[in-house]
Amino acid sequence: MVSEPEFQQAYYEIVSSVKDSTLFEKFPQYEKVLPVVSVPERIIQFRVTWENDKGEQEVAQGYRVQFNSAKGPYKGGLRFHPSVNLSILKFLGFEQIFKNALTGLDMGGGKGGLCVDLKGKSDNEIRRICYAFMRELSKHIGKDTDVPAGDIGVGGREIGYLFGAYRSYKNSWEGVLTGKGLNWGGSLIRPEATGYGLVYYTQAMIDYATNGKESFEGKRVTISGSGNVAQYAALKVIEREASWFRCITLEQINDIAATKIHFKSLKEIVGEYATFGENKVKYIAGARPWTHVSDVDIALPCATQNEVSGDEAKSLVASGVKFVAEGANMGSTPEAISVFETARSTAATAGDAVWFGPPKAANLGGVAVSGLEMAQNSQKVTWTSERVDQELKKIMINCFNDCIQAAQEYATEKNTKILPSLVKGANIASFVMVADA
Ligand code: GLU
Repeated sequence: MVSEPEFQQAYYEIVSSVKDSTLFEKFPQYEKVLPVVSVPERIIQFRVTWENDKGEQEVAQGYRVQFNSAKGPYKGGLRFHPSVNLSILKFLGFEQIFKNALTGLDMGGGKGGLCVDLKGKSDNEIRRICYAFMRELSKHIGKDTDVPAGDIGVGGREIGYLFGAYRSYKNSWEGVLTGKGLNWGGSLIRPEATGYGLVYYTQAMIDYATNGKESFEGKRVTISGSGNVAQYAALKVIEREASWFRCITLEQINDIAATKIHFKSLKEIVGEYATFGENKVKYIAGARPWTHVSDVDIALPCATQNEVSGDEAKSLVASGVKFVAEGANMGSTPEAISVFETARSTAATAGDAVWFGPPKAANLGGVAVSGLEMAQNSQKVTWTSERVDQELKKIMINCFNDCIQAAQEYATEKNTKILPSLVKGANIASFVMVADA
């Protein structure tokens, strides 16, 4: 058997949730779906070659995993990064099936990418890479077939090149990619969506756990990462009420300072710290935030997979964390999730518990607004940012309620009455949705 550790980790997580539940006991027909959904409908692997600025030919391996189209066109990002391999893309594509189902929109699941290091590449080289990648990918995608978007290494600029390439190869303007620029078919709030959605989901967790008595106000929040998920999650937390914000750890501060809006936010944080008694802003090279914070209430891992280890989770629990929600896909290792889940299920009261919001629910805001971008593209209209934001909020809250309901209905653990497992709830609810389709 091929070793695919990331994919096996994701598959095992879903399988153990549904197998531990009463779902198969109540409805045995669902069990037959498991082996079917574990195999991608199609995997496309292709060679991507381009010329670098010195006129030399370079080559890299490209992929698109079209995992499942039961609920709609394959949908999921493209990752351009040296860590890209089939196991990672199968894991991400598999997760995407269930994440997309939880949005309540008509989208299947897929993921793709290129194993390449973009560091140090010129703008021209990146354009040539995108055109070369799309030369092959364009044969396999379409607005009703497969609609990719960005992921790590693929931002607005790359989506622009990829979209331009698709248009010229196919002689067709269609909503075949999401995350487009505003003046060429993009949706308002798409760049903000994952970070904003994460904050809306966390707010729903706080509301439920405290019976609506508490909010972000006065809470100390710690965030990892420096991409758009981390930045907009930070911005939303600050924007809603600046006094909520006590603590944030972000990597690569220069990147964040690059845009005016984030520079302003960062200055606010630094300002707050500077006048905050003993606390000073400190840069610790190469460190992750989790073991360097004390008295934290909310942790939002927003960098990449396996960025919170079991020991780091223990240190977060010891520092008093009450809510953890993942902006990153599989940010916590299985050991870390089990630390958080135990701190929930063994708590005597909701006030003592630690509550974990899994990525396939907490970070689905990005792909949800991608779905709204597809809807706008097919109608050839642009919604206002208020409308998109409102829809996003609705989707996050519906998803949260679906997770709670599924956990209460099917999870077998005894302590669900205090705070149900959102991990199990998200896995069971989404599995049922996909299996039904
Ligand atoms: N890459 C994002 C995710 O992991 C967004 C995918 C999309 O918009 O299709 O959900």
